[in-house]
Amino acid sequence: MNSSKIQLYNTLSRTKEEFVPIHKDEVRMYSCGPTVYDYAHIGNLRAYVFADILQKTLEYYKYKIKRVINITDIGHLTSDADDGEDKMAKGLKREGKPFTLEAMKELAVFYKEKFMEDLSAMNIKHPDIIPFASDHIKEDVEIVGKLLEKGFAYKTSDGIYFEIAKFPDYWQLSGRKDSPEEKTESRVGENVEKKNQADFALWKFSAKDGLGYETKIGKGFPGWHIECSAMSIKYLGEQFDIHTGGIDHIPVHHTNEIAQSETYTGKKPFVRVWMHNNFLDINNGEKMAKSGDGFITLQTVKEKGISPIAYRFWILMGHYRTKMNFNWEALGGAETALGRLYGLYLELGNDIGAVHEEYRNKFKEYLGDDLDTPRALTILWDMLKDPNMSPADKKATTLDFDKVLGLGFESLKEVDQEEIPAEIAQLAALRQAARGSKDFQKSDELRKKINSLGYEIKDTDGGQKISKI
Ligand code: AMP
Ligand code: ZN
Repeated sequence: MNSSKIQLYNTLSRTKEEFVPIHKDEVRMYSCGPTVYDYAHIGNLRAYVFADILQKTLEYYKYKIKRVINITDIGHLTSDADDGEDKMAKGLKREGKPFTLEAMKELAVFYKEKFMEDLSAMNIKHPDIIPFASDHIKEDVEIVGKLLEKGFAYKTSDGIYFEIAKFPDYWQLSGRKDSPEEKTESRVGENVEKKNQADFALWKFSAKDGLGYETKIGKGFPGWHIECSAMSIKYLGEQFDIHTGGIDHIPVHHTNEIAQSETYTGKKPFVRVWMHNNFLDINNGEKMAKSGDGFITLQTVKEKGISPIAYRFWILMGHYRTKMNFNWEALGGAETALGRLYGLYLELGNDIGAVHEEYRNKFKEYLGDDLDTPRALTILWDMLKDPNMSPADKKATTLDFDKVLGLGFESLKEVDQEEIPAEIAQLAALRQAARGSKDFQKSDELRKKINSLGYEIKDTDGGQKISKI
């Protein structure tokens, strides 16, 4: 394979395609962001590790990226269909807060900050633009107004709906057919005013005297799907390169984004490449979700004394399109393996040589093959164990690979290594990574462990200094 070309699996065509950006010099990417009514769980974070690897792979191939992750802070109901409670309302209730637009924004700002902290802890690059859905009502209304004008949307007593029968390619992304079963799929809570049960809400009217935005199309809230169309078009243009999300977004959310965006702009395709990560499951086959007992946050991971970077490393051991089943033993194993990699790196000394061309090409080729991180990691191990390579070149090559992998080798560079046993050096490296991700609890635990083994660790301007007690 030519390592200057990237192949990406496009859900739209169900094949790996050679990636060709619309604008030669800039790739424009949108990732559906979290609904901020609670902490993100580690399944959500898998979606952002995947998008981070995608961005960093493109950068490794020398593309410039413009990237948006939105913050969903209104309009996302507990069901992907158009019924159920608003997730933000659910969050407000849980926290005993009033049901007002101000309280909603407060809740959103709080959980957005927590989300950003999670991204930092996992070495996930922050996007260039992080818009709140609630700041884009004007843009939503403009699109819905145009869809009504064009005759693709209609009003019922509770909202404005998109008429899918008018959009022949509606089933293209999901590959599902407009079969009688599909039409009856959402029978529970069927809305008799809809022309087709799969027609979806663009706008939901407020109940009498209820909360909502006063607009020219009525008082209410935007639908969840319209928000992503409005924000992506505003910041990335009417057509852009890549859109990401979890596979749960394929049949409804992204399908609806395509229908409404292409109808609004009159341009096809709305997005060139649609990419979706598979789920993180728990208990062998149960999707991790914010409701349910399998709700694990990054904070829980830290409280167990495991570094967020070890979780990132574990995620990278699976391909993004493969389902992964989470359990603590597997994560513990990943942390041990990461400690071993840190140990190998720390034995390399202080000199930085040249990046090894052949290993680099292989590494790049594997990433360029639809982001094959498991194989890219094998190249890192092979290279670090290669007896024919100089330590200085290994160091340079590891740091180069880490631009994509994000395992924090760079921050290990200042550990004073002289006469320190490998076990202590590994613990010190894990401590440094914990400090890097501001996990001071873990860092303290590691310091105690190092002390118990007869060594002392001090933080100086020149990095960690280890000495025998
Ligand atoms: P949400 O906050 O529910 O809107 O989800 C944010 C992102 O996480 C979306 O891209 C979802 O598709 C993704 N996601 C949700 N649950 C999981 C899971 N268990 N595994 C992987 N990705 C998930
Ligand atoms: Zn979205």
